[in-house]
Amino acid sequence: METVFRQAEVQRVRLNNGAAFFVLRDDLIHPVVSGNKWRKLKYNIEAILWNRQDTIITFGGAFSNHLAAVAAAGKIFQLKTIGIVRGEEVVNPRIELMRAHGMLLHFISREEYRNKTDQQMQERLVTELIKKGVLSNDDRFVIIPEGGSNSLAVKGAEEINDDIPEEVDEIFCAVGTGATVAGISRRLRSHQRIKAVAVLKGGQFLEKGIAKLGGDLSKIDLLYDFHFGGYAKSTPELDVFCQRFTSETSIPIEPVYTGKCFFAACQYLEKFPQKNILCIHSGGL
Ligand SMILES: *Cc1c(COP(=O)(O)O)cnc(C)c1O
Repeated sequence: METVFRQAEVQRVRLNNGAAFFVLRDDLIHPVVSGNKWRKLKYNIEAILWNRQDTIITFGGAFSNHLAAVAAAGKIFQLKTIGIVRGEEVVNPRIELMRAHGMLLHFISREEYRNKTDQQMQERLVTELIKKGVLSNDDRFVIIPEGGSNSLAVKGAEEINDDIPEEVDEIFCAVGTGATVAGISRRLRSHQRIKAVAVLKGGQFLEKGIAKLGGDLSKIDLLYDFHFGGYAKSTPELDVFCQRFTSETSIPIEPVYTGKCFFAACQYLEKFPQKNILCIHSGGL
């Protein structure tokens, strides 16, 4: 099942200011189903194939890495994919990428989208998709939540620990829904902790979400001060940091997820230079 996917690898980087740490290159796993998105999809797809289902319905925004990853994975595993997209119909390169991988898109209002986990809303949605001819009556579908973040995703994310060297003390990871850090927290070595960098403003709801996904909050320090204005927002300082990091290490990072995570890690290293840290390059380019 994983022949088109590469193994993640650990690299050691040293910046011009002397900061040195490990980077787990999960972004190298696949060009589109990259980073934590494959970790989260792996067991979901295994279950779908095992159960002889053939269609994935899932949710995301018009710039969603998750939707693009599901579209590409659907193509690889010959599954039909339907993306429910938040907001009015738009076209952008990400949307085009989803369509190029065969994903069928259905746009819903932001109000409707807010109820996406609601059972009745999902039933209405399925009826609408059938009426529209996007879904057919004999499609054997599963609904995967936004970000792919369900219990099978957490199981996949646990495996990130297999690629983390034993000597690492602190693991920095960007947090959207929290499924990735929930998974990592379940199988850490006893001396290791997670620094979970919230990329959304007001991410205080994250603790509840991580606990609900079975994460071990006693191993996780949530960092709320590195959102740089909110989800997908940036500042000149963050943009410059990302450019400088990439030019010094040849590792591409971006301001939505990994830039915020790596920025937090570098600031931490200035205070605690003796710490042995690893940043997860969760993908996202
Ligand atoms: C989706 C994504 C995340 C967030 O993962 P969660 O499991 O939702 O917390 C982090 N980094 C990148 C690059 C992503 O695409």
